[in-house]
Amino acid sequence: MVREYLKKATLTSQSDAGETQAIVRGILDDIEAGGDAAALEYAAKFDKYDGNVLLTDDEIAAAIAQVPERLKRDIDFSHANVKRFAEAQKKTVANFETEVLPGLIAGQKAIPVKAAGCYVPGGRYSHIASAIMTVTTAKVAGCKHIVACSPPRPGVGIAPAIVYAAHVCGADRILAMGGVQGVAAMTFGLFGLPRANILVGPGNQFVAEAKRILFGRVGIDMFAGPTDSLVLADKTADPEVVAVDLVGQAEHGYNSPVWLVTDDRGVAETVMKRVPELIEELPELNRDNARAAWRDYAEVILCPDREDMAATSDEYAPEHLTVQAADLDWWLDRLECYGSLFLGEETTVAFGDKASGTNHVLPTSGAANYTGGLSVHKYMKIVTWQRSTREGAKPVAEATARISRLEGMEGHARTADIRLKKYFPNETFD
Ligand code: NAD
Repeated sequence: MVREYLKKATLTSQSDAGETQAIVRGILDDIEAGGDAAALEYAAKFDKYDGNVLLTDDEIAAAIAQVPERLKRDIDFSHANVKRFAEAQKKTVANFETEVLPGLIAGQKAIPVKAAGCYVPGGRYSHIASAIMTVTTAKVAGCKHIVACSPPRPGVGIAPAIVYAAHVCGADRILAMGGVQGVAAMTFGLFGLPRANILVGPGNQFVAEAKRILFGRVGIDMFAGPTDSLVLADKTADPEVVAVDLVGQAEHGYNSPVWLVTDDRGVAETVMKRVPELIEELPELNRDNARAAWRDYAEVILCPDREDMAATSDEYAPEHLTVQAADLDWWLDRLECYGSLFLGEETTVAFGDKASGTNHVLPTSGAANYTGGLSVHKYMKIVTWQRSTREGAKPVAEATARISRLEGMEGHARTADIRLKKYFPNETFD
């Protein structure tokens, strides 16, 4: 048996990349030239918002007062889990020093960036969890200034639950501004904000493109495209749970791919029958997204065996990868390309998205081939240092002088010469 596509995608997510780039570049140029006023104009244009953009303490308190107690406790629960995971992660960032040669000590040090700009999407859905993921991780990493920025709703401002989440997780300032203008405000230091050293967080294609264009002037977590998810299911999987999980991820957006990879034709056929039925049961907006995502971007792939399932999954390098199959340890050991892995039916992507502690800002569109998701490491600069005794410096200076001269870099060579002459005046060096 060979690999068989029971359903193939008809579109790829990159279709309108050029157009988005031109729009975003124009907005960034306008805001860089026009400052606060230009950003406010775009806020009025795209979000129909003309209220206060930098939230005052009173506005934060008023927003928090509107959040139901039960929701606050859920946000606190998620925050505690994300914080616990990030703290464990931070312990893996090791400062160290080693004696490279007798007398020559070199070391590594992890230093958090000063200012983090956390984008919290809020256009279509209120991404409360994105505030928890980005702000908490920045705080644990040790960033001194943390700005949370999210689109306001006309006449309302940022969703109160997002304000609560950003506040309890440790944001120093909260900016009610969405899209490119929000990203620009954090990068250029508008409205009295510190200029961000790193921009993090998911967002739509305009947000992602703004971060990509600004990368270099500012660090970014990653270039994030539409969310994607892959489920690996064998004959032990419950097709109903698989179908619900696929629909749950397809509702992200019209262009969010979901893929099912299985070695069981029965599972594939049941899931393919159930997914469209389940989509029709969703509320209208979610249904339209999921319907389009399933129709245009989804794939169902039947593989001869689990090794081919794993190979297929690694080729897709999904953002979210779920395994509903026997022998979970085999899968954990074998799989190599994914943003976050969900092993077994008792966990699911939405758990990681909202509350289980791992980060939900993850590499999309195959980026899991070269990077993982947001972690405390993304906010840390791993820098190096060295110091030496004169004896330790001697062989290094001799080698440096010779290599530099061969490269034609006489100035470099002389920085070595002067030390050799000064520290070892009675010796000659070639
Ligand atoms: P958003 O906050 O990303 O974008 C809203 C902003 O887009 C608005 O404030 C507006 O300024 C701007 N905008 C809208 N139309 C525009 C236009 N024509 N030109 C220029 N700017 C325009 O919210 P959203 O749109 O709902 O998108 C959220 C995204 O975040 C989704 O794609 C979702 O999949 C993604 N997301 C990803 C993850 C992840 O971890 N990968 C997690 C949560 C959300």
